[in-house]
Amino acid sequence: MNYARTAVIAAAAGALLLLAGCGGKGGDSAATTGSPSPGATAGASATASASPKTTPSPSPSGSATKTPSPSSSAKPSASAPSSPTTAKPGGEDALQVVAKPDSITVLVNKQYALPKEYEPSDLVYPNVAFTFSEKLPKRMMRKEAAAALETLFAGAKKDGIALAGVSAYRSYATQKTLFDNYVKQDGLEKARQYSAYPGTSEHETGLAIDVSGADGKCAATDCFATTKEAKWLDQHVTEYGFIIRYPKGKDAITGYQYEPWHLRYVGVDVSKAIAAKGVTMEEYYNAVPVNK
Ligand SMILES: [Zn+2]
Repeated sequence: MNYARTAVIAAAAGALLLLAGCGGKGGDSAATTGSPSPGATAGASATASASPKTTPSPSPSGSATKTPSPSSSAKPSASAPSSPTTAKPGGEDALQVVAKPDSITVLVNKQYALPKEYEPSDLVYPNVAFTFSEKLPKRMMRKEAAAALETLFAGAKKDGIALAGVSAYRSYATQKTLFDNYVKQDGLEKARQYSAYPGTSEHETGLAIDVSGADGKCAATDCFATTKEAKWLDQHVTEYGFIIRYPKGKDAITGYQYEPWHLRYVGVDVSKAIAAKGVTMEEYYNAVPVNK
């Protein structure tokens, strides 16, 4: 697929995008957008005109078991967001809403947003340590992801690595409050650089979690990358159905800088396929790069 071309067109279209850490300011950064799938070409035109037309089939929203085959075969077949909006690049209006928010493999990023007020129906409290003791909603994850997280923490423990959750689920309302406050404080343009529009934080899916060592050292900050916990996560998360969602050097595609602490559950089939290819989730689904 031609990322280069897509990138150029997108950039020209002014698809801005800022990086924003997910943990840092409480909000995974934000952005714009929504639904999985625009293939290379489709993506390009989508970004350029702000109207996503095609959606390549491997719909990231497929079921957990099914492994969508990336680009190769399937090109745009799709069902994409239909309205040819006249969106302002990067603005809230540019967001595409994902078709299957409940899918374990749903792609949520600065371009693909969850439906407004979306709330997963199967949130539970994973039985793992967190860096805080209160029973807050940010401990929650969707059932399947929570079970996988428990197995992952147990696996780490066997290897002598003690992990702790920092922040998992975040509701649409919470994200909105966070974002609105940042806008009040710093203005829209600035806020968008470090916080996410409501609906575009992966934490709202209930499938993502920020993890640190049990001591909470460097939690959700850059120095975490040098810790033994980060190294263990980097080597083992895919075995448990998770991916390091924002890999190093891929910010132009994911819309986020390297976040070694942000894990996203996608199921073992997809996590292993993504790892085997050494690609980002966006590339795996042939979606248009977020940042350029
Ligand atoms: Zn995060």
